[in-house]
Amino acid sequence: MALYKTEAIVLKAEDFGESHRLVTLLTPARGLVRAVAKGARRPTSRLAGALLPFTHARLLLWQGRSLDGISQAEVRQSFRALREDLPRMAGALYTCEVMGELVPEMEESAAAFRLHRTALGLLAVGARTDVTLRYFELQLLRLAGFGPRFDRCPACDTPVLGAPGESAGVGGGRTYFSPAAGGCLCPACLGRAGDAGTGGGLWLGAAAVGAARGLLNCRPRAVPALRFPAVALAELGAATDACLRHVLEKRPRSLAFWETVRGYS
Ligand SMILES: [Zn+2]
Repeated sequence: MALYKTEAIVLKAEDFGESHRLVTLLTPARGLVRAVAKGARRPTSRLAGALLPFTHARLLLWQGRSLDGISQAEVRQSFRALREDLPRMAGALYTCEVMGELVPEMEESAAAFRLHRTALGLLAVGARTDVTLRYFELQLLRLAGFGPRFDRCPACDTPVLGAPGESAGVGGGRTYFSPAAGGCLCPACLGRAGDAGTGGGLWLGAAAVGAARGLLNCRPRAVPALRFPAVALAELGAATDACLRHVLEKRPRSLAFWETVRGYS
């Protein structure tokens, strides 16, 4: 029986059979792994505590024919604060759902693993959930190869206007964001694309474009200090929502849950 060790983030844990748990794991080298933890629902199980959602654990697994099995688990970081605050928990659940949907698209997931650990850490230390989720979505979409670009037109590479301090572009200082094109279109490409109201795109104000650029270019440790106008965050949230719906061909279910509970703290 082949054994392997891996770091993992627990994306999901479900009951399985009489006393087992079925967990979905994000691992740096193997992407998504589905594995069974035998007996993990028994009160005496030593695996149970390490296999709660959001936990970063070090695992020893055996390779099975359809599902792998978890033999040992050691908690590296439990991110306990995420289970004690509803908006943070909902935000963390959302990151797990999006990660589970996007990782199969990636050949290599070490960078996605680091990004997820970073995002959970930011949520756990009290960074704003809306800023952290927008950071996570933009960085993950970029890692998965979907753009989106907010600095240059994805169709022709012309710099696009829109950030504060730049002269007004088409649409009275607003820039058209197209999920299908993978970013903010320049006026010429937008004109060629036809009616701006079609294609699932939307107009972004200069502050939203600036926020997107800031979130794509900042280091993780800078995220807790970032401040953006509420309207910019709302517009950017609509853009990342549209982008993910375009890529996944559905809306992540846990996004609506986070939107419902985001004000409860
Ligand atoms: Zn263009």
